[in-house]
Amino acid sequence: MENISKYVSNMKENGLYREFKYLNSGQGPKALVEGREIILLGSNNYLGLCDDVRLKEVAIRAVKEYGVGSGGSRLTTGSYDLHKKLEEKIANFKGTEDALVFNTGYMANVGILSALCDKKWVIFCDKYNHASIIDGCLLSGAKLVRYRHCDMDDLERKINMYKGKVNLIVTDGVFSMDGDVAPLDHIVKLAKKYDMFTMVDDAHGVGVLGEKGSGTCSYFGVNKDIDMQIGTLSKAIASIGGYVAGKKEMIDYMKNVSRSFIFSTALPPASIAVSLKAIEIIEKDKDRRQKLIELSNWFKGELKAMGFHITDTITPIIPAIIGDAKKATLFSESLLEEGIYVPAIRPPTVQKGTARLRISLMATHRSKDLEYVLKVMQFHGKRLKIIEG
Ligand code: PMP
Repeated sequence: MENISKYVSNMKENGLYREFKYLNSGQGPKALVEGREIILLGSNNYLGLCDDVRLKEVAIRAVKEYGVGSGGSRLTTGSYDLHKKLEEKIANFKGTEDALVFNTGYMANVGILSALCDKKWVIFCDKYNHASIIDGCLLSGAKLVRYRHCDMDDLERKINMYKGKVNLIVTDGVFSMDGDVAPLDHIVKLAKKYDMFTMVDDAHGVGVLGEKGSGTCSYFGVNKDIDMQIGTLSKAIASIGGYVAGKKEMIDYMKNVSRSFIFSTALPPASIAVSLKAIEIIEKDKDRRQKLIELSNWFKGELKAMGFHITDTITPIIPAIIGDAKKATLFSESLLEEGIYVPAIRPPTVQKGTARLRISLMATHRSKDLEYVLKVMQFHGKRLKIIEG
């Protein structure tokens, strides 16, 4: 116990201790955070669908028809006709033969990697991949080889060190804390050259990139070349759940072997109904996607012009790199006092010395509110000596 208290006080001293902020409203561009109306700038609700009236209606209808709980795991009594429809919808959306829904994206990554790989495998993993990918690799017992972020020369050099093994390359499609995009065209070329499996986690690409918003694989035109497309239903899709899309044989295997799929109660019908409807909306609503990208480009340009260090992204994830964790926390707290909520992202989520404000926009943000944010960010950025002036 003494060690635990020491650990917690150490985190507090170093600006690394994190606490909840409680919302008292729906998750829109503005929300009630602990009783105050705040501009939300850190949500993954990219398309603003979390409080969409059509999705709320679908959820209410599903509750009336099916009740609230699913009552069992998918292979016992928890599979509903809605699950089947959603899996068919995802496969169609992703351009694959089949798909399987997990309870979260985290569970999909952990369950798939640990079912597919064992100690005979070598998994090549981008250094910035999401924690759930790393956890899946560790659980599988495979040899984990991390390559420099998006560095294809480093990846090929490392592949050559492990030739002759069963190999997998796994990457985020859009990197969650940097907003940049993995070079999937190069990754596919390397996978073909060295006869390797490929897996892409597109949690942040869906709804944002690609034809009909179907994600990063579509953006690069490599849907058919990626063996496993992983995703979440909890960001642009505005619901809850994770999935894998790929060949039917692979899905049949996962259904029967993946432990995080088998040993957990299925998602309730209302959440499944919401995902189904949200994908339908995303496929049709090109304007919403366009608006999100336009807003993001404009906002990014303004921050860069003020002197903020913004990473190069083509997505609504806009990280303002601060460096020091305490300063990032202070900046985030100053913004909150002015009615703007952008969480500070600190180690261990990102590397030491790269603490940041991870700004993410929604298609439903209003320019007037974002102009206010820019003014406040400039003022406190100067005050805290993050930018010059
Ligand atoms: N992969 C990535 C890249 C993510 O950013 C996240 C969530 N932050 C996940 C997987 C996990 O998804 P979920 O929230 O559905 O568990």
